[in-house]
Amino acid sequence: MEKGKQYTDDTKSVHAGMSDDEHLSVSTPIYQTSTFKFKNADHGARLFQGREDGYIYTRMGNPTIQALEQAVAELENGYKGLACASGMAAIQTIFATYLQAGDHIICSEAVYGPTHTLLATVFEKFGVEISFVNSENTREIEQAVRPNTKIVYIETPGNPTLAVTDLQAAAGIAHQANARLVVDNTFSSPILQKPLNLGADIVLHSMTKFLNGHADVVGGMIVAKTSEDYKTMRKILNLLGGVLGPMNSFLVHRGIKTLKMRMDRHCQNANKIAEFLEQHNKVERVLYPGLPSHPQHKVAQKQMSGFGGMISFEVTGGVEGGKTVMNNVQLCQLAVSLGGVETLIQHPASMTHAILSREERLEANITDGLVRLSVGVEDAQELIDDLDQALSKI
Ligand SMILES: *Cc1c(COP(=O)(O)O)cnc(C)c1O
Repeated sequence: MEKGKQYTDDTKSVHAGMSDDEHLSVSTPIYQTSTFKFKNADHGARLFQGREDGYIYTRMGNPTIQALEQAVAELENGYKGLACASGMAAIQTIFATYLQAGDHIICSEAVYGPTHTLLATVFEKFGVEISFVNSENTREIEQAVRPNTKIVYIETPGNPTLAVTDLQAAAGIAHQANARLVVDNTFSSPILQKPLNLGADIVLHSMTKFLNGHADVVGGMIVAKTSEDYKTMRKILNLLGGVLGPMNSFLVHRGIKTLKMRMDRHCQNANKIAEFLEQHNKVERVLYPGLPSHPQHKVAQKQMSGFGGMISFEVTGGVEGGKTVMNNVQLCQLAVSLGGVETLIQHPASMTHAILSREERLEANITDGLVRLSVGVEDAQELIDDLDQALSKI
């Protein structure tokens, strides 16, 4: 790519972070090494003092990992990226960097389950104050602000209810309070939503999902908007140690080459399926940000360039209705996780959220018949036919 030129996401997906190694390889080489040699004692000294660029030890940096970090940072319009061993490692690194005993964090209620649990167990134990709010209602964020608020943490669209939060409004509230806005952008990928452009300070991904897209790697990424935040988090990530390895970095980077194409197809397929489900007599409601019936459809239109591949819908017949669909799909795979080329289906009440009581589930808007679908890139009509025959068994 030409230096300084602005390219579209179609081109960036293919070229961002591309290697210019000494052998002029087209794909990024896998530097499968834990450590790097120094030319002599002075060279080692200069690297450690930061007076010369170079690699020392893979936990601190590695060319294959760095290529991926650069690719995602370019797609998010950020300063630099930090590749992490998982989405949870990314989230933990951000919290450990910016929260200390006595600090306060505001977090979306519709958030990935383990994010909620990480705050409510580990960080609560370390003396951090936590408020979970319905962040799709911007006033609830505003009302939760305290003098010691350091982070406003938003996941949008949120899991599994696909609640959408207005990111520009959230950024305004966070900055008024001298706090950072941190956004989990996993459901949208940088193709459909660019939180840093909307005022966020830090964005993170579970790369396990859309960025890698092939259900064969667990990984995470943090992208900082400023060099100061990048450097601060890099120091903490080096200490906590939750870094991604070179092989997994290579695989995710390879996946990103088709990210724009895949996201286009995920959106097209999900849109068709959401419309099909909305008129089905075994479906009570459909939650998809692209449908005019979605409560925050207008906000989604404002801040997303497409509505993604995730759909939640409520079938008739409660828990049994949900299980019937699970047991009868033939093409949709019965599995948790999301964002891969293959369509996955799961039933929160009997699976991911079965450990909660029914009351706790209902409080989180997870009703008995709620089904979560991660729409893949197969033929849309064949997916619709599969869902139709499974729904007809209720
Ligand atoms: C999966 C997921 C995570 C956690 O990522 P891992 O890679 O599984 O650690 C965080 N946020 C969201 C929205 C997710 O879907």
